[in-house]
This record gives sequence, structure tokens and C-alpha cells, in this order.
Amino acid sequence: MNKIVIATKNKGKIRELKSLFENTSIKIRGLDEFENIKEVEETGQTFAENAKLKAEGYAKQSNSWALADDSGLEIEALNNEPGVYSARYAGEDSSDTENLNKVLSKLDKASKKSRKARFVCVMAVSNEQGKTQFIAEGICSGRIVEKPAGYNGFGYDPIFIPDNFDQTFGQLSEDIKQKISHRAKALEKILQFFNENVVS
Ligand code: IMP
Repeated sequence: MNKIVIATKNKGKIRELKSLFENTSIKIRGLDEFENIKEVEETGQTFAENAKLKAEGYAKQSNSWALADDSGLEIEALNNEPGVYSARYAGEDSSDTENLNKVLSKLDKASKKSRKARFVCVMAVSNEQGKTQFIAEGICSGRIVEKPAGYNGFGYDPIFIPDNFDQTFGQLSEDIKQKISHRAKALEKILQFFNENVVS
């Protein structure tokens, strides 16, 4: 195995992962390099279920090893919402601003006043037969602020302050986020898996 498909059409994610695998013998290919790939629906109830569905579905379609991720925000006082619904919390096709405003207004009304939250990322690796070989989870803990701050990043970044910092991911540099994020932590475990088990 020396080729792996990244189970996303998101060009930013493909570019980021290509550079992270640059010094290994693994060649990264995006889904955009294949024709007739049908979108795998994220029908799971957990991040792991969705990551597995995507890794296995795209591995079978491309007849290649595949790496997929699923991620989102869990807020303690909202019983871990928005969770797997993070991208569409305020409805299908909702914008990042609509989603984060819904979080802020639900937190204002919540009976528990804790603002503890965490970003979670789960990555799954499937072989070409569509069997998951490894799952890795990365967590970045922090809290939700009262008012959005900063313009960096995406999604809920302007309302999330990671532990040990006093600025939101919207204010912190991309360099800092890439060192401590849920995605970076999951990816570290994935790279270790490839180094120890797959790369010959
Ligand atoms: P997906 O894993 O790309 O499907 O992302 C799910 C959703 O979770 C995104 O649309 C964002 O709303 C949220 N999310 C995941 N990771 C981050 C992050 O690093 N910052 C802000 N929001 C995130």
C-alpha cells in the first residue's frame, strides 16, 4: 500500500494532508482525481460512525485505501450539541454565523451555566476492501465565549477559546491552531499508525 485516497472533495483539506504526508512514502490522492464517485451520506449518530462510513464507502468506490474524518463541537450545557450536526445546526445550508448564533442563544437560555466545550475529530482508515483498519480521535478542550471574536479559521472558531489561552481560535494564529487542534491530534495518531503498520 503506497497510495491513499483522502475521502473529501474539500481542496483545503486535501492540500493540508498532502503536505503532512510529504516526507512519507505514501502518495495522497483526492476524491477529485476519480470519476463517478457517489457521495457517501453522513447518516451516523457519532463522529466515528460517519468517519467509518466515508472511509469504507470511498475505499470501495476507488478500490484504494482511504482516510476520512468527521468533526464537530460538543457543548456540555447543551448535552453535547451540536455534535454530529455541527455543520447544519441552524438548518440544512445554514451559514457559520447562523450556527454559532444558535449556540450562543441556546447557551443564554440553558439552565446549566457552564460554558465548557470541546472540538472532536475522528479519523478512520479503510483498506481497499472497505474494512476499517484504524480509528483515531483527537480532542481540543476549551470554553464558549459570550460574543464572537476574530476572523481566522472557520465554523465555530470565533466563539471557542482553547484551554490555556485567552483568545478564541478566530483570534489565534493558524500556526497555533494547527499545533493544538482536534484535527492535528487525530492526524498525529494516524501518521503513527502508517509509520508502524503499513509503510514498507
Ligand atoms: P466536517 O468534519 O468538515 O464535516 O465539519 C463539521 C463542522 O464542525 C464544520 O462545518 C464546523 O461547523 C465544525 N467544525 C469542525 N472543526 C472545526 C474547527 O476546527 N473550527 C470550527 N468549527 C469546526
